[in-house]
Amino acid sequence: MIKGLMIDSARHFWTIDDVLKIIAQAAISGINTLHWHLTDDQGWRIESKTFPKLHSTDYSAQCNGEFYSQDSIREIINYAAQLHIEIIPEIEIPGHSHALLTAYPELGCSDDARAIICPGKESTFTFLEELFAEMCSIFPGKYFHIGGDEAPKGGWRKCSHCRKKLAEIADENSAYDKNDYELLQGYMANRVHALLKKQGKQTICWNDALAAKNLDTDIIIQYWTAQYADLMKPFAEKGGRFIMSDMFHLYLDYPYSMTPLKKVFDYKPIIKGHDFSNYPGFLGIEACRWGGEPLPQMMDTLFPRLDALFSTASDYNTFTDSLKKRYRDAENEGLHFHPLDKCDPEGEERQKETFAFMINMNAKMNQDAIQHMENSPAQNKDFVESFIKYFFEPSDMEWLEGFMKKIGYSNAVSK
Ligand SMILES: [Zn+2]
Repeated sequence: MIKGLMIDSARHFWTIDDVLKIIAQAAISGINTLHWHLTDDQGWRIESKTFPKLHSTDYSAQCNGEFYSQDSIREIINYAAQLHIEIIPEIEIPGHSHALLTAYPELGCSDDARAIICPGKESTFTFLEELFAEMCSIFPGKYFHIGGDEAPKGGWRKCSHCRKKLAEIADENSAYDKNDYELLQGYMANRVHALLKKQGKQTICWNDALAAKNLDTDIIIQYWTAQYADLMKPFAEKGGRFIMSDMFHLYLDYPYSMTPLKKVFDYKPIIKGHDFSNYPGFLGIEACRWGGEPLPQMMDTLFPRLDALFSTASDYNTFTDSLKKRYRDAENEGLHFHPLDKCDPEGEERQKETFAFMINMNAKMNQDAIQHMENSPAQNKDFVESFIKYFFEPSDMEWLEGFMKKIGYSNAVSK
């Protein structure tokens, strides 16, 4: 079973020493897998000798600049291996790829569109084949993550190469619709999956790829958001393999007021009341820590929640009792975990922390993201309902309704 943690070096660049410290503590929590998010809009953090512009400081003004050399990556891989941890690298396609498109704009649909990689041009796959071959040579593990979440497909709609490719794909199967741009994402994931397979790797994709009717069911799906909840059951029933990273329970960038310690301890891989742990394709669970903050804040948000997720204690009190030594050891190393008496905040303390987080998150969220949610209410109904159910309490609703109205998200709160 996968017992994983994801860290996001694209948005925050930690020193090698910091990464080793995170791994050392996560190993004590019981992980056997570190999923390393190495590329995103904000930067490309892994050295490429084949395509050096990817990590080059020449592009630092735009987004790149800080990166891990291949030697330092190998040092981290070896350290993790000693602790029986496999590292799964993640290179994001087709979206979250602004850093890649800044360095190599010819991979986009047009030179001024740097939001998404163009799957309509064969030259894209020539590039990706070389790139992934090099990346595979660095990581000895069997898994390779290719992202696939939140891909903005507007650029594809305006691109003649993409439209032509989509028409070809749609022609192959009468069940396909030539206006269904998800097929292009499926096509791209399948092609990269095929070239990773040649390198002996197994592909993992975020659950967004499930919207593609043509997706190769041999690709492992990582579930994170309720917007795709309904696609998970048919996929699992067909024998699809998946990893559970439900954001309402396992995203550790949310504060303790929204994802308290006990909630993480009690986590079961259940979506809309359906238990997914009984499927043969259930590969395990992974906590994700998106975004970046300096090491002290990282330690505070990760621990002890990561311990709770992988604890084998029979009940919650036994688990929290067992943490005393853990806290002492961490203090001795100069590391500060979240104070145990603040791990399950209640009442005003909980409310204050939650509201402050929401206000701060909104300040960082762009208008496009809110608009995107407004525009697809059907798909987002599950998301909004779950967001309210898992992160808020009835006493928060008055505040939440006012807040949603203020930020311009009108059709969210219906109850
Ligand atoms: Zn295109």
